[in-house]
Amino acid sequence: MRFPISLYMSMTGYLLKMKLQGNDRFPLVLMLEPTHRCNLTCAGCGRIREYHDTIQMEMTLDECLRSVDDAGTPVVTVTGGEPLLYSHVVELVQELLARGKHIYFCTNGMLLEESLPRYRPDSHFTWNVHFDGTEPVHDAIIGRQGGFQKAIRGVRAAKAAGFRVSTNTTVYRETEVSDLEELFGQLAAAGVDGILVAPGFSYEDVTGEVFLTRREIMEKFRRISRWQNRFPLISNPIYLDFLSGRRTFSCTPWGNPTRNSQGWKSPCYLITDTHYATYGELMDRTDWDYYVSGRDPRCAQCMVHCGYEPTVVRQMTGPDLLRMLKWNLHA
Ligand code: SF4
Repeated sequence: MRFPISLYMSMTGYLLKMKLQGNDRFPLVLMLEPTHRCNLTCAGCGRIREYHDTIQMEMTLDECLRSVDDAGTPVVTVTGGEPLLYSHVVELVQELLARGKHIYFCTNGMLLEESLPRYRPDSHFTWNVHFDGTEPVHDAIIGRQGGFQKAIRGVRAAKAAGFRVSTNTTVYRETEVSDLEELFGQLAAAGVDGILVAPGFSYEDVTGEVFLTRREIMEKFRRISRWQNRFPLISNPIYLDFLSGRRTFSCTPWGNPTRNSQGWKSPCYLITDTHYATYGELMDRTDWDYYVSGRDPRCAQCMVHCGYEPTVVRQMTGPDLLRMLKWNLHA
């Protein structure tokens, strides 16, 4: 199974509830950034630049939990910054599990191995460790020699301790598809439960030409999408069709709302026009139709999963659903 059956059941129940309520604009995954502090300065990171002046600020535990309750999503991605640096991280995870949430805990892996004794394996909890290439490539991107080895030791230790572990890879302009093929082989050999792969986004605040145009994304993903039965990819197959240019979708910017120490980020995880104080304001005051139309020039090259995977879920047809079920069982 690429995703735990309990996640499928939670998500299906949630989608049915939204349908019965007649709600067609609702989020699926909350992106919770309790801190932007980080122990790395990766080349493609927008957060350390955009939030440079507020990077030492943290959300309180109470703010985190209220945000989770307000968004009401079955899945919470805890991200950052490096969320293992958040002052109340253990309590946060415990409270989310007590609420029945599925947690994808994103980490760069630098503190993973030593943090493991503070957590318990749970079918609702997945470590999601960041790898952007094989050892030399990854270490160059994160600017830390030995970083790859440290993260892979964390992955092996987490698997040995009984945790679910997935990985997250961002594809940049310089990424060689053959390097990803080698990396995914290494990750599969380390026993990871899932490999998420998605293109990066051209943050205004990231300098240099590290990101891909849509044409370049499609070229790389035509090859990557062929690996679905070879590696435990968890980027869903319909989204991979989109990345390969085989299907077209408009984005669903409210699908993965982002909450951090500055408030609710509008309109999406990637671009920031403003932060709202409450979830209600984010939903009511953002001009969603404008962003869905794709007219904003910043959206022109975007194909990122937090904008488009929610569209796949919203627009799934019967045959798509069957394909997704078969795909989930094959891993
Ligand atoms: S296409 Fe959607 S997800 Fe991408 S930048 Fe624009 S609003 Fe955000």
